[in-house]
Amino acid sequence: MTRLVLVLGDQLSPGVRALREADKARDVVVMAEVRAEATSVPHHPKKIAFLFAAMRKFAAALEAEGWQVRYTRLDDPGNTHSIPGELVRRAGETGAAKVIATEPGEFRLISALQDCPVPVHLVEDDRFLASHAVFDRWAKGRKALRMEYFYREMRRATGYLMEDGQPAGGKWNYDTENRKPPPEGIGYAGPMQFTPDAVVEEVLALVAAEFPSNFGALTPFWYATDSGQARRHLAHWVTHALPRFGDYQDAMLTGEKFLYHSVISTYLNAGLLDAREVCEAAEAAWRAGAAPLNAVEGFIRQIIGWREYIRGIYFHHGPEYLERNALGHTRDLPAMFWGGETGMRCIAETVAQTRDEAYAHHIQRLMVTGNFALLAGIAPRQVHDWYLAVYSDAYDWVMAGNTIGMTQFADGGVVASKPYVSSGNYISKMSDYCDHCRYSVKQKTGPGACPFNLLYWDFLMRHRDRFAGNPRMAQMYATWDRMKPERQETIRSEAAGLLARLDAGEAV
Ligand SMILES: Cc1cc2nc3c(=O)[nH]c(=O)nc-3n(C[C@H](O)[C@H](O)[C@H](O)COP(=O)(O)OP(=O)(O)OC[C@H]3O[C@@H](n4cnc5c(N)ncnc54)[C@H](O)[C@@H]3O)c2cc1C
Ligand code: SF4
Repeated sequence: MTRLVLVLGDQLSPGVRALREADKARDVVVMAEVRAEATSVPHHPKKIAFLFAAMRKFAAALEAEGWQVRYTRLDDPGNTHSIPGELVRRAGETGAAKVIATEPGEFRLISALQDCPVPVHLVEDDRFLASHAVFDRWAKGRKALRMEYFYREMRRATGYLMEDGQPAGGKWNYDTENRKPPPEGIGYAGPMQFTPDAVVEEVLALVAAEFPSNFGALTPFWYATDSGQARRHLAHWVTHALPRFGDYQDAMLTGEKFLYHSVISTYLNAGLLDAREVCEAAEAAWRAGAAPLNAVEGFIRQIIGWREYIRGIYFHHGPEYLERNALGHTRDLPAMFWGGETGMRCIAETVAQTRDEAYAHHIQRLMVTGNFALLAGIAPRQVHDWYLAVYSDAYDWVMAGNTIGMTQFADGGVVASKPYVSSGNYISKMSDYCDHCRYSVKQKTGPGACPFNLLYWDFLMRHRDRFAGNPRMAQMYATWDRMKPERQETIRSEAAGLLARLDAGEAV
């Protein structure tokens, strides 16, 4: 009996579980470009184009290997525009009575598949290094789920950077060496860029016609769209940028959109690269003496530590996690996140490169946009939906822990032991943004004062009951308490004025 094999847009790996479970001789692969997915939030046009182009190439590669593929293009007349709808349609055409699917990374889609009229057999996605069972076992009975301890388990389990059962170099984590301010001259030209081929050009025309008003620049389009290109991109980065990745991991520089970051999340999350191969490439560079330990450890930690941990949090906590709002934040996301006018240079730079490339690196996401949203009390779900829309690597499983947890503290401290908040000082130290800003980072009050400086204290005071007892925040509260009451009053009232301007839709 024929079965359908569902391959979603972020499951573009030849070894993805559903394909391994299927029989090439009798089963039919189903892939579909549908509106229900393409419009669940107003995705960046580059993200839609990347996924459709990569899906089309992956389908062609499967066909070349002898698979039967029923591929639905967005503009196909018979398109039902939902994944379950396409499964029902293809089941009718082929006589299939069952579907095999690799578990999607989004609860919305998992439940849509569970409710599909054609029975769907969901198999766990084993492209990740930690299965649900492994994460749940690690989490069981722990008071706090801290990434660092999970990471050590993953180092032991994978053997990456381990020597005789001990971490290479004697330390698990070299993060203290990875916080250097940005260098003056950058010796890396950024990620490898690919000229669009015929498949990509066709998709670009489709996306331009179908999604003309989504936030973001569709062109120039330079992404890799198949695994061969993604591997060339990875090799180029390992050779030219990995050695300096660690040192400048937290740095931000005007006009330098990528610095030494790997820009692989889009490819990894869609399945064009595999987590094991990227770690092995980095480890091989270290063993060959081509990259220092602080860079390679920092990179491998992001992959087997943060990436796996964040996914574990999503599935461990379930769908209600996304609705959390521990700090009761309700403000609307300001227009400057969508390119609206702002005098804040750090926000303008981060949003502009997000618009152009559907990319910003971790510190821009965490300490610029995320920090501002948290300090200003923006509704966490709006923040989540913004990140989900504007970044080409964004999917629910990887967003939830990062937005609801890491940046917005809306989970009440599951991911972060204290909120990631800072005044303008941090941005000033790690970037050159403040040199070109309408506001002065040195100014703490008054019309030219950096908004981060005002909102930082206001946030701490608004949430004093919750955070004053946190030993890691005691110093901040002690500093506030030493300020003169008049100064405290000025800061609070200027912060209130700033927030009122945001509420009135005025530019800040
Ligand atoms: C608010 C916020 C939203 C984020 N949204 C996403 C997202 O939608 N998709 C996504 O893949 N990452 C997300 N991240 C994590 C991280 O910022 C990106 O993975 C990274 O910036 C991608 O760029 P890169 O490939 O150049 O990463 P590099 O800095 O070169 O890091 C290497 C890889 O490590 C992994 N990684 C590093 N940190 C994390 C993390 N916190 N969570 C998961 N993986 C991590 C990624 O796969 C990344 O490609 C988010 C972080 C924050 C703070
Ligand atoms: S002064 Fe403040 S608002 Fe301006 S770039 Fe620096 S941190 Fe951002």
